[in-house]
Amino acid sequence: MKPSFLLLCCATYLACSAPPAKAPPHVALTVRAALEPLHEKLPPPKAGDWLAAHAEPGQSFVQYVASCPLRAIGSRRTLYVAEVGRFPTDQRQVVGEVRLFLAAHFGLPVREATPVAMDEGAMPDGTWRTGPLGTRQWLTTYLMDERLKARVPPDAAALLGFTVVDLWPGMGWNFVFGQASLRDRIGVYSLARLCPLHPEEGTDRVCLLRALKLASHEAGHMFGFLHCTAFRCGMNGSNSLDELDRNPLELCPECLAKLTYATGVDKLERFKTLEAFARKRGLDAEADLYRRSATALEALSPTR
Ligand SMILES: [Zn+2]
Ligand SMILES: [Zn+2]
Repeated sequence: MKPSFLLLCCATYLACSAPPAKAPPHVALTVRAALEPLHEKLPPPKAGDWLAAHAEPGQSFVQYVASCPLRAIGSRRTLYVAEVGRFPTDQRQVVGEVRLFLAAHFGLPVREATPVAMDEGAMPDGTWRTGPLGTRQWLTTYLMDERLKARVPPDAAALLGFTVVDLWPGMGWNFVFGQASLRDRIGVYSLARLCPLHPEEGTDRVCLLRALKLASHEAGHMFGFLHCTAFRCGMNGSNSLDELDRNPLELCPECLAKLTYATGVDKLERFKTLEAFARKRGLDAEADLYRRSATALEALSPTR
């Protein structure tokens, strides 16, 4: 199988925009130094892990800025989330939680986009099939080019489509969790393999955590974050559900610096908001990391 979280077709970046008026470099370094002890360096990959199969160099903050990434500035600051096709009530709730989380994670407005109706009877041949698991699959490129591209609102930093139908990106692939086009500011992602159709007790939280990881990771790619190879980090590549479950939700300090550059979020407020979000949903390990991160920044005040 060739599962992949990162399928960035048409990865054309926009021209560089004006540099941000943010904290001077020595302050940024102090923040990073304060947060680094809370994060574990990325250990060597296990057999089958993303980095065992993909030789990736990582991306420093300096390299990121030099790549002229998409930034949520000016009139394009809103993330839109759309349901694609029909959604069972419980998975609709998951998408609602994803919206709330993305708003806190990126510090951006997140809005529900008009749902995208899907009529399989009207889908051209080759855009749907019965996949290897015996379930329906939709072609990602069809969803992006024909169903999402024309729906990107003028104020959108990006439009993220979610579906409960399994996806595949074309010939030679069994399935894919999602695919994005940076140039068109769109991506489409499936919950089909993250959330069991008939959840057992206790799996709701697993499904939610996976969906949050997928959404924030993929939206990070939309802002030009490459896979992180420095720390255990939400931007680590994942080659399987097992690896996704091992990867953390939160970003490492290097990737958090990229996020701050991309969106201008206030880090301390972000940590506090995310702690409240995670605590309320029983994601205690994640909440604890947000709390410790906020405490580390508060110890730096007022220089942060
Ligand atoms: Zn990725
Ligand atoms: Zn990172």
